[in-house]
Amino acid sequence: MTASARTFAGSCHCGALGFSFRTTLPVRRWSVRACGCGFCRAHNAMTTSDPSGGLAFLVDRSDALQRYRFGLKTADFLLCRVCGVYLGAQIQSPRGAFGIINTLALIAVPEELPAAASADYGSESRGERVERREKRWTPLDGVV
Ligand SMILES: [Zn+2]
Repeated sequence: MTASARTFAGSCHCGALGFSFRTTLPVRRWSVRACGCGFCRAHNAMTTSDPSGGLAFLVDRSDALQRYRFGLKTADFLLCRVCGVYLGAQIQSPRGAFGIINTLALIAVPEELPAAASADYGSESRGERVERREKRWTPLDGVV
């Protein structure tokens, strides 16, 4: 039997931005990562993705959308300019558009959400970083 996809809604605090994450993975099997980079540490971010799922970032107020690039500048980290919440990140590559969500921005954080595993991507080259994201991140309906 094929598991049916569930949709998980996320939002920033003020509601200007959000996301819709679709996955067939049971929550207890989500891969949750706590990245060790300075940005993710400062937000205490815990991110997840599903290469077989789908993701859309929702922009209710375009003036609230802040895209932030740092390090190798391969991805946009999406923040709300009004309330400061970090929602997730997106990348566009020749193979498509992919994203991750910050699980802390889920409107209802599922009880079965696994603890985050530490991740450190600091030694990756630019090519390795893009390739990992193409493989592990969630296909995006489109970049914002
Ligand atoms: Zn906001």
